[in-house]
Amino acid sequence: MHENIARVLFSAEQIQTRVRELGRELNERLGDREDVVILGLLKGSVLFLADLVRSIDRPVKLDFAWVSSYGAGTESSGSVDLKVFPDGDLSRATVVVVDDILDTGRTLHAVKERLRRNYAAAEVQTCVLLDKQGRRAFPMEPDFAGFQVENVFVVGYGLDYGDRYRNLPYIGVLDDRRS
Ligand code: 5GP
Ligand code: MG
Repeated sequence: MHENIARVLFSAEQIQTRVRELGRELNERLGDREDVVILGLLKGSVLFLADLVRSIDRPVKLDFAWVSSYGAGTESSGSVDLKVFPDGDLSRATVVVVDDILDTGRTLHAVKERLRRNYAAAEVQTCVLLDKQGRRAFPMEPDFAGFQVENVFVVGYGLDYGDRYRNLPYIGVLDDRRS
């Protein structure tokens, strides 16, 4: 264990098992949809997405989007900027937005709305590894979630603190951060 990690919440083995399960669940619930785009939000979703798609047993497209949030905006949908790479046609696609963690719901709520409005996505679903259910400030429930997590600041498996710790194979709580 890294010296700055106070405790491990989910081990690498627990994560791998749950992510495989989640991939199979996703695959099943996608039914006979043909145009499926797995859209990862950079950078936090990268490790999760890479493992998840290996358990999806059908040809899917992979895309990535960059999301920037501005200040502590209170608008129900605004103050989040979304850039999708590449700017493909989503008008017949089921877009599964993948993120590391759902916290207040601000990011995914806005991303979902942007994908519908600016990118004319036919259908948008959401899949997060972690769900901090108690923190929600925007109306947003994930279609797929790996684990519920208490209100602590976590790092590892894609999640960062100051852009570090993303490469940890497990998810843990950092020493001396917020509680
Ligand atoms: P939301 O918009 O739902 O409030 O926040 C989602 C984003 O906040 C996540 O994509 C993530 O970047 C960040 N975030 C929320 N909680 C945590 C946490 O415990 N650890 C880390 N590393 N990032 C978090
Ligand atoms: Mg993020």
